[in-house]
Order: sequence, then structure tokens, then C-alpha cells
Amino acid sequence: MPTTPLFPLPEGLDITSISETPEEVLVRVTSQRPTSTCPGCATPSAAIHSYYRRKPLDLPCAGRPIRLLLTVKKFFCRVPECPRKIFVERLPDLIAVSSRLTLRLRTAVQEVSLATCGKGGERLAGKLGMPLSDATLLWSLYLVPLPEVGQVEVLGIDDWSYRRGKRYGTILVDLHTHKIIDLLPERTVDSVVAWLEAHPEVGIVSRDRGGVYMDGATQGAPLATQVCDRWHLLKNLGEAIEGFLIRAHIRLPDTATTAGTPEGAEAARGAPTLERPLTTYSATPAQQGKTQARLLRKWKLYERIHELHAGGMSLRKIGEELGLARGTVRKYFRQAPEPPLPTPRPLRASKLDPYEDYILARLAQGCLTAAQIHREITEMGFSGGSSNVKAYVAHLRTSIAAGATPIKRSERVQALSPRSLRWLLTRERKDLNQEEQAQLDQLLTVSPEVRTVHDLLHTFLALMRERQHQQLRPWMEEASKSGIAELKSFVAGVERDYDAVKEAFHLHWSQGPTEGKVNKLKTIKRVMYGRAGFRLLRQRLLLDA
Ligand SMILES: [Zn+2]
Repeated sequence: MPTTPLFPLPEGLDITSISETPEEVLVRVTSQRPTSTCPGCATPSAAIHSYYRRKPLDLPCAGRPIRLLLTVKKFFCRVPECPRKIFVERLPDLIAVSSRLTLRLRTAVQEVSLATCGKGGERLAGKLGMPLSDATLLWSLYLVPLPEVGQVEVLGIDDWSYRRGKRYGTILVDLHTHKIIDLLPERTVDSVVAWLEAHPEVGIVSRDRGGVYMDGATQGAPLATQVCDRWHLLKNLGEAIEGFLIRAHIRLPDTATTAGTPEGAEAARGAPTLERPLTTYSATPAQQGKTQARLLRKWKLYERIHELHAGGMSLRKIGEELGLARGTVRKYFRQAPEPPLPTPRPLRASKLDPYEDYILARLAQGCLTAAQIHREITEMGFSGGSSNVKAYVAHLRTSIAAGATPIKRSERVQALSPRSLRWLLTRERKDLNQEEQAQLDQLLTVSPEVRTVHDLLHTFLALMRERQHQQLRPWMEEASKSGIAELKSFVAGVERDYDAVKEAFHLHWSQGPTEGKVNKLKTIKRVMYGRAGFRLLRQRLLLDA
């Protein structure tokens, strides 16, 4: 029986019969090809030695698995010098030499595997008539050749964590094509150097502000231009400003929010209230970490939107591309290039506030461990956990160290936190509502230093927005001369990495795409992890890229 259009086979292969079992359809296929080429010497041979049978799975038909009962030949090789005396018939258009899957089934399986994960893929393939184990599905990915990396001119480099920040690897992204080009199992200078040495064409390296990639790029690609990433730069500047607000005890002399209390009224009369420190009390480090992660996601979006727009894409198209509402795109687009800050809110009240006087008294008596304080107030009726106590005690201790009694809790829930003040200082005036504008004006009168900080900050943001790299040096000098310690140390940090920071003002390359790929990696890792070691993760990611 010749082949049918319903079940096409390559030239020279005939169907001899079809039968079935409860599980599968059996298709007997015989090769009619008279010769085959010897793999040892590439000479065709027609000298048949024997026949044998292979039983590969093929693509399903009408939802039922198909198994081929494939009769193929063994040939003699008659070339005297050839080491192969006997070889099996090659069917390169149907199946690989020792495979249990036909090529077309293999391709389908790879597609399923790329679109799913181990166990989910196994279930899906089973329903489609391809009864294969998840191990086979994952393994099939190794057989897909990886795309050529080609020439990488602009490289983005970042780290990714195997599991909750315990161990890190490195991800490399081509910032021209936005494709992942490699994944390294570790975050070390040596591995980065080795990779870069194999890619001498790299001309620009965009990286974070950490030392590993700085050293890696410097040693591995000494001629490449390094660009440090703007998120960390702006974050560091914002933190410097918040540090200043805390140290200098800057508070808003706000009649509206504190007039209700006697202290508030007094504060309003005395204009600048500098005698009491107000630190940002943000519960536990874990919560702070979550806030950071959320802000980083926003920032990546921000950079991505600006990048797409710089590439000529309309805001509407960007919204479609990134799956965002048009209003959201517009909001991000208009924003100043400062990493987004949490929405300002009054300093938080805490379950611990009722114990504040007691804790202060104990601290004054020299009881300095949070664990002991936790035990004591638990006996008094406090029901919270020890990490909260730890953070709270640290907060009180900072306040005391700053040389004053901490602000009363009744005030704490009303006053603006240093973070809120930083937010006010950072926003463009036009983006503030009327009340916020009034608050900003008041804040700027608190001290000349606040005015200086505000001006320096906005100059910095404008330089970055307008890519005025040649103005960075003058800005640094001015900031150093301001006499504000926090800005001085920010400048010192910039100085250590000056060239890369300057390029961040100059070139439009950003870590945005790299960060985006790290997110993709996280998603893939989540569905594959456990099934997938590093090698498989890499294969999967590079195929997908
Ligand atoms: Zn041969």
C-alpha cells in the first residue's frame, strides 16, 4: 500500500498495513530505498546484510498515538579502507539514528515543552496523543540547537538568584535585540571575564553599581564603555537626601496637621521645629524589601516606556506592547526620572506605641537587647512578634542616638515622615496638588540647606533627563561644596565609578530590558524548578529568548 495524503511519509517509504491495539494505532512501514550512505566513508552501498525493526512513535492521528513498525535494512560497506563493515540504513528525513521519536513528533514535543513545564507538558502531550514522560519532554529541549549568539555590541549584564537570594547567577542580554544571549551559573568576576574575552566585539556594557560586574567588565573588556544603571544611581541620591532629612531633623512646620495638639501649636509658632528627630519607621526589613521590589518593578516599566518612546513608538502602541492602560503609560511617561517612591503617608502607628515609654525607660536603664524587651512586654500583654520589636527598638535607638527624645506617638501618626518629605522634594512642582505645593513651599523655608538640597536634586534630574553628561562634573563640585555630608558621600560614590555614571547621562542604554529578562527567568524558573537544573534552565531560556 502506498502512502496516503492522510499520513504522508518521505519518498521511498511505504505503508504495508495498519492495525490497532487499545492504546495505539500500529502502522507497518517498509523502506524501499535500494541504497544507503555509509556513515564511515560516505559511500552509498546497495549490499543488503539483513533487516531489522524499529518501533518509534510518530505524530498522533485523530488524537490517537501512532506507532510505526518500521522495517529497515542493514548494509555492508564494501570500501576496503572503511572501518565500518556493516551499517544501518539512515532515514534522515524521518528519524534520527537511535531515536524513539520521529522527527516530526520530536518537533511537536519540543513545541509543547517550550510552551509548558515538565508535568503540565506531560499531561497536555498525553491528551494530544503523544504519551511521553516529562523527562522525555524536557530532554527533547536539549536536542533543539541554540540560536547563534552572533555579534553583541551592547551588552546588559545583571544577576539573578537561584532561590531567595541565597545563590546568584549572571544573565547576559543583547540590548539591541533585547534577547537573552547567555546565562552563567555564577556571579563572579572570573566568569564574566571569560565570557567577555570570548566576545571581543562588545563595545558597551550596561551594568549595576556593584563591584563584580564593574571588575568583570574592566578586566574582560577593557576597551568597552561601561554604563552604570540609572535606577541605582537615583536610588542612592534619594537615600542620601532622606539621610540628610533625618540627620538634620527636618520637619514640616505644618499648622494644618499638628495644630490639634499643644506641641503642634507650639511648633507652628516656632516655625522650624528641629529639636526632635523623626526617622522613617517601616516595620521589618522583610516589609522594606517588598516595598523595594514593588518600586523596582515600577521603575523598570518607567525606563521601558521611555525607551520604546525614544525608539519612535506611540504611547498607544506602548500600552499594547506592555499590556498597560493608556492612562498608566501616560502617567509613567510624564514622570520625572526618579525611582518612584512610596505614596507619602503619615508615620505609621504601631502596636508597640503603648509600650514606647516603657521601652524608652528600659533603654535608658541600659537594657539593650530587643529580645529581652520582647520578653518583658509580652508579659505585659503585647502580642506581636520579635522582628517587629527589633525594628522598633532599632528605630528608637537611632532617635536617641541622634540626641533627642523620639517624637510622641500622637504626633507620629500625624507628621509627615522623612520619606514623605523626600517625595515632596523630588516631585516636579506641576505634578503636586495645591496642598502639596503649599507643603513644599513651607518645607523650602525650613532651612537654607533644604533649599540647596532641593535645587541640587532637581538639577541632577534635569541633567539626566536631558542627557547633559558634560554638566555632571560641575554638579558634583557644587554638591561637594554644599557642605551637606550626605551629598558629599554620594558624590564620592559617583567619583569611584565616574566614567560609567557619566555614560548613564550620555547613552540611552538602560538596564530596563535586562531587568525584564530577569523577570522572565523568574517565571520560567518557578514553573520548572525542581525538574530543571541550571543547564536545562539555560537551554529553556535561550530557546525562548
Ligand atoms: Zn564505509
